[in-house]
Amino acid sequence: MPFTAPDDSLCAPWDESPEVLENGDGLPGKHIYAIFVAGFCNLNCHYCYLPDRKGPGMSRDMAEATLQFIASRPARRRDVGFFGVEPMTEWELIQWMIARALEVVPGVEFSLNTNGTLFTPDRLDFLASHGCKIAISIDGAPETHDRNRPTLGGKGSWKLLARHIPDLVKYPHKVYTRITVAPDRAHCFDADVAAIFGLGLPRVSFSMDLTADWSDAQLDSLEASCERLADWYIRQLESGAIPEIASWDSIGKGRSVPKAGLFCGAGDILLSIALDGTIYPCWRYAGDKLHPIGHVKTGMDREKQAPFAGFDTLGQMKGCSTCANNRTCGRCAWVSEKYAGAMDRVTHAQCRGSAIFIAAGQRVSRELLARQNPIYLSRLLGRALRTVGEPGAPAPEAMGESTGDVVLLRGAGGRFYAVPRSELAALQALAPDRAGAGAAT
Ligand code: SF4
Ligand code: SF4
Repeated sequence: MPFTAPDDSLCAPWDESPEVLENGDGLPGKHIYAIFVAGFCNLNCHYCYLPDRKGPGMSRDMAEATLQFIASRPARRRDVGFFGVEPMTEWELIQWMIARALEVVPGVEFSLNTNGTLFTPDRLDFLASHGCKIAISIDGAPETHDRNRPTLGGKGSWKLLARHIPDLVKYPHKVYTRITVAPDRAHCFDADVAAIFGLGLPRVSFSMDLTADWSDAQLDSLEASCERLADWYIRQLESGAIPEIASWDSIGKGRSVPKAGLFCGAGDILLSIALDGTIYPCWRYAGDKLHPIGHVKTGMDREKQAPFAGFDTLGQMKGCSTCANNRTCGRCAWVSEKYAGAMDRVTHAQCRGSAIFIAAGQRVSRELLARQNPIYLSRLLGRALRTVGEPGAPAPEAMGESTGDVVLLRGAGGRFYAVPRSELAALQALAPDRAGAGAAT
């Protein structure tokens, strides 16, 4: 998934393990489905890419066919994602699909992408009790959010969302926040991210609004904001606070492009299913009804799928082969087709925005690895670090802890953590460099 692309928040809200992209035992680790269960949205966001937002939802017959199709494609795990238009307007259908998927879809997991305005405590309990991950679109502080996310009546939607935050923060392991950065808010992007963490929401990923025109001055502002945000993030993690910027943490994990297919997996491990059962490479293509590649009742059209599943991201992108970001940069194919004219080209904003996000994320990774920050290391390793002794206790060496194969780290609050020396060395060897990045346009 394009964890480091400008468009990553929309495409990879979940900080998944590399197995998503790998085929270790011949089976894809996980297939991800963005299902348009609803035809209606109660908001009117200025950058929304869906032209039709006032229609009926998916029929039960099509929902059943969708689940059967998902079950029929071999994978170890399958994410049934309730995606659009605003899925919470079809709450009964969501409940029905979750119950039915548990019966017919092996290895099923659930996710929900929502504008966050239509929760109730009962609905949240239901989603959490089924392990459903929840991605909420928030653009930042109230003023920023209200600018581009009005209701159908034209008022800001912040208040509709904010009333649910006390309930949302009860599910810190399930809730992600997605920020879309508009050009006119690039200058305060760092403050907007900090504002979201200030609400108690623990995890953020971000993307640029690449449907808008970005001037060089606005891209400069974004770069300055990103650098400030990187400083803030490093300070937070060093002080023991645990905000999580998934878009940047993934950089330290050394993610890179798959052998074949788009970086995001669109049209292959990631598919979107429209209300009428038509299969598209991803939600963006579904919104445009561009490049249908099958139907849930008849299966995949391999010929139409081939340009996506067989795309060579590393070799095919024009101007990218000598860029240091070639293995890291997400490069949204839909943005390329729509705004650069072809899947193998990028726009100036796409390329520069990607280089900005990646450079700041790489600095975060380098500095936190150099400081051996225990919070950051535990995220990279995908598990909690072993705590050695309590704050205020004697230094672990004095407690007889071996330091041969183990590195002892001192975290915020005087806690000590043990990390296998080999694992620490492997992570530090991945510490990224950015020389030569961002050259496509
Ligand atoms: S092609 Fe689709 S899934 Fe891939 S990065 Fe673009 S919007 Fe996301
Ligand atoms: S040249 Fe631009 S678009 Fe290509 S990999 Fe580098 S940053 Fe990404």
